Amino acid sequence: MIQEFISEVRKHKQVCIFSHVRPDGDAIGSQIGLALWLQKQGLEVRAFNDDALPENLKFLEEIFPIEKPDKDYIESCDAIILVDGNDPKRFGGYADLIIESGKPLYMVDHHPEPLDIYEVGFSDPTASSTAEMVYRIYLQSALLHYIDKGVAQALYTGMMTDTGSFRFDSVTPQVHEAIADLLRRGNFSPDVIHQKVYDNKELHHLKLISEALAKLEVYHGGKLATLAIPESSLVKTGCTYDDLDGIIAFALSLASVETAVLLYERDEKVKLSLRSKTDTVDVNVVARKFGGGGHKKAAGAWHNGNLEEAVKDIVETITF
Ligand code: 5GP
Ligand code: MN
Repeated sequence: MIQEFISEVRKHKQVCIFSHVRPDGDAIGSQIGLALWLQKQGLEVRAFNDDALPENLKFLEEIFPIEKPDKDYIESCDAIILVDGNDPKRFGGYADLIIESGKPLYMVDHHPEPLDIYEVGFSDPTASSTAEMVYRIYLQSALLHYIDKGVAQALYTGMMTDTGSFRFDSVTPQVHEAIADLLRRGNFSPDVIHQKVYDNKELHHLKLISEALAKLEVYHGGKLATLAIPESSLVKTGCTYDDLDGIIAFALSLASVETAVLLYERDEKVKLSLRSKTDTVDVNVVARKFGGGGHKKAAGAWHNGNLEEAVKDIVETITF
């Protein structure tokens, strides 16, 4: 699958690469890593995302620009690649255009159950991150020497953020070997990236954490934790939705908790962000019941009711 991806995709001349909406470090890191792999081989490449980057990932745009999708370019390019998601629906307002354009559509992603709509879909649900898969593309194409500081920092960011800073069970010796290679080739110290991504908060963000922790509830003998955040908590603290990123880790850090769910009001609906730290509850299965998806240990979905109803449905749906 990877060899076919490598040989097919590089035959094109003008390519656009999409990462999924509400991008995270892996979405942008893998997108930039792949964009540079193609650009360094002489292809014309543009990278699109329908949403703006969260503040703590903006440093990545200095490595390769992430633009608002350009309809004319999408229509004139000769191939489209999706990264870190396997369903065009996760890629924002241009999903229909992406599908209907009739262009060869490629995918590089580590989420389970990819759609069968791709020219070549490079899928590996066991991979720690899409960034790890992009590293393998450099390896398998014998182009590791193309990994400069920018590529290395982009892929490092993707692998770091999708593995909870190298703590999840998706982390293998191969992940650490790839990281060692990235650090050597990129010649940077990892604390630079950790500080940019994690130690970049402002006071209002910590005030939001305090609001959120005040809403922490546990159920099912302490195995399930919820953090239900009303819109008013964001307004009161002057925070944006991006500032909620990572807050769920506090709920998971409780000894008794196996599964945690962050719920927050957004656009008249409730966004669900689910995490498990054991194998008991597959949150991808739970998320799919609400029309969403993800991985066994990290998934997301939308609930159409209000916050109270969403908590009730989550507590009923997740059993141990
Ligand atoms: P997060 O909770 O950080 O938003 O997302 C965790 C995981 O679930 C990510 O791997 C993401 O791709 C997936 N995910 C989040 N929200 C959605 C959603 O609304 N639909 C689907 N299909 N996947 C989601
Ligand atoms: Mn990912």
